[in-house]
Amino acid sequence: MHIPEIFGENVFNDGVMRSTLPSEVYKSLRKTIDEGKTIDMNIADSVANAMKDWALSKGATHYTHWFQPLTNLTAEKHDSFIEPVGGDAIIMQLTGKSLIVGEPDASSFPSGGSRATSAARGYTAWDPTSPAFVKDGTLYIPTIFISYTGETLDKKAPLLKSMTAIDREAKRLLKLFGIETHKVSTTVGPEQEYFLVDEKLWEKRQDLVLTGRTLFGAPTPRGQELEDHYFGSLKPRVAAFMKDLDETLWRHGVLSKSKHNEAAPAQHELAPIFTTTNVAVDQNQLTMDIMKKVAQKHGLVCLLHEKPFVGINGSGKHNNWSLSTTGLNLLDPGEHPENNSLFMLILACIIKAVDKYQGILRACVASAANDHRLGGGEAPPAIISVYLGDELGALVDSIVLGKNYTPHKTVKGSIGVPESPIFPIDSTDRNRTSPFAFTGNKFEFRMLGSSASVADPNIVLNTIVAEAFAEAVDKLEKLTKTQDFDNAVKTYTEKLLKKHYRIIFNYNGYGPEWEEEAARRGLLNHKNTAEAVEEWFKKENIDVFLRQGVYTKNEVLARAKIQLENYVKTVQVEAKTAVDMAIGQIYPAVSSYVSRLCQNLTMKKATFSSIPTASEEALIKDLATANEHMLSAAHALKATLLDMPKDEREAALRIAHVVVPAMALLRKHADEAEKLCATDVWPFPNYYQLLYSVK
Ligand code: ADP
Ligand code: MG
Repeated sequence: MHIPEIFGENVFNDGVMRSTLPSEVYKSLRKTIDEGKTIDMNIADSVANAMKDWALSKGATHYTHWFQPLTNLTAEKHDSFIEPVGGDAIIMQLTGKSLIVGEPDASSFPSGGSRATSAARGYTAWDPTSPAFVKDGTLYIPTIFISYTGETLDKKAPLLKSMTAIDREAKRLLKLFGIETHKVSTTVGPEQEYFLVDEKLWEKRQDLVLTGRTLFGAPTPRGQELEDHYFGSLKPRVAAFMKDLDETLWRHGVLSKSKHNEAAPAQHELAPIFTTTNVAVDQNQLTMDIMKKVAQKHGLVCLLHEKPFVGINGSGKHNNWSLSTTGLNLLDPGEHPENNSLFMLILACIIKAVDKYQGILRACVASAANDHRLGGGEAPPAIISVYLGDELGALVDSIVLGKNYTPHKTVKGSIGVPESPIFPIDSTDRNRTSPFAFTGNKFEFRMLGSSASVADPNIVLNTIVAEAFAEAVDKLEKLTKTQDFDNAVKTYTEKLLKKHYRIIFNYNGYGPEWEEEAARRGLLNHKNTAEAVEEWFKKENIDVFLRQGVYTKNEVLARAKIQLENYVKTVQVEAKTAVDMAIGQIYPAVSSYVSRLCQNLTMKKATFSSIPTASEEALIKDLATANEHMLSAAHALKATLLDMPKDEREAALRIAHVVVPAMALLRKHADEAEKLCATDVWPFPNYYQLLYSVK
């Protein structure tokens, strides 16, 4: 197979557009894509027709307006191209109107109460900046999703608005420095972590099937402590899956680049090459979907849950984020950041944004699943901080604390073997525990969960950084009336760095010492979703979205409500599943094992009265006790679900402080019983089988 030939073969990409569209139409569409110019409605019919012909040549029979409702998934309704033309005849048709708008019934999608069911009409509208593609016989047209009254009901519309905001404010900022440009875009490269388990074993676990994670399971004697899985040699079945996955992704135009084993057994990662945020978000959705389907073909199940197994690492999605304009990465410090006043100002603005709006950055990644990662003894912690690395860290320290700064010289590394090359050593990213780390020419936001949409953190990042740019421009415009420009920039940058210095932390983010230090610095440390989501209700956190034209107040509140509802429902499903498994599977299995042991014991004693049985008796006693405690914990957990408050903020608090601990207690007793039981009596596959069976 010749990869350059198959790459993007299922995408209505630039090459296809250029060859199938009349040149005027092509130019007009390019202007929309490249410069954000409003689409000219007159070209719609022409584009639709070309798209349809191309899709038919790829075997498509249907098209769908593909959108991103306020879940972490995508939605699609497939319509065929057929159109009756009198008599018995039909033609295959896609009109400009059907390309541009759709009218799906929106009543079954979460709206956070922003829209009455009686007015539940929704509209989907084509996003020409993200390419359409064919998958499984359907033409997928990326669209935004809004309500009859114009409220956004999805993640794409606000993402596009946030990109407009940062484009606008960054251009104003660049203009002060004499740089005129058409467009400033944010770019994103999301690294996707996941687990693979055997489908036959997966089927036997009600918890994995219904909740995506194991609600029970004693850790295996060997977890990830030997550190031999990370980057380890790929097992043949995994390698075959990855090969198939890459090929499928490439055919769909996804720039899949790296694949490797991750830290935990059965855990892996895929990283694409970065692209424009909007496209990166769509492609990540497509990637997650394709991963699950390709896994199935290999008799595997791809788990995207943030914490499928306790005792070993969970999965995240590192959001590498940068800002660029034609040919220039604005987060590239260059050889001498100390002389790069534009870079230092942009850096200071980002630091300010992250400090000032740490609450919403934390809130936007909060979910029932991610609660097990953030602050759960693995990277990153639940406290937001910024890591700058040795170089920039020292430079910022010199500005804020007046310490000496020696301009950086590229450190050359050599392993001391004459044949080996000399290589530059990158000093930016030695700290893997930081939630927001500067990594050379981009920031890496590491708090996002593996199953979450990449849209949310980028909506927040773009908005808060746009706001910081806007404030900088306003301020500098004033300051330069009385000061020279360079001086004004320097003074303002210093002021920002001094004011927001507390958010910078260049050390180990794991330990309890950091929690204490962070508390002294006044940094937030929300341990669960119920607490984190409260940030959305704060006036200052809503206002920034209003000022930047990204959300209305109702839209923010609707999203907070949906996030809480989702949290409550997710944990409720988990709790009910745990109760079912405990009462319906674990208790009976342990109970019959105990009675078998008792019969044995009685027979043994009857046959040989002098045989020692102390350990056996102790085992029976411990097992029966664990089983009894487990049963009572299951009933107690069930009781915590009764009379759940109607108000979602109250319900979320009940979940966090009552239901989650009750579930943990049930698990503790069940896992104790598992450790005491014979392996073959355990009613479903255990951790050893799940984590080590894919060869
Ligand atoms: P690591 O595991 O060390 O973090 P990877 O190579 O796995 O590094 O991932 C780095 C990710 O960052 C890739 O997806 C890459 O495309 C992305 N990236 C690199 N440069 C930029 C940039 N300017 N903007 C956004 N993402 C970027
Ligand atoms: Mg990374």
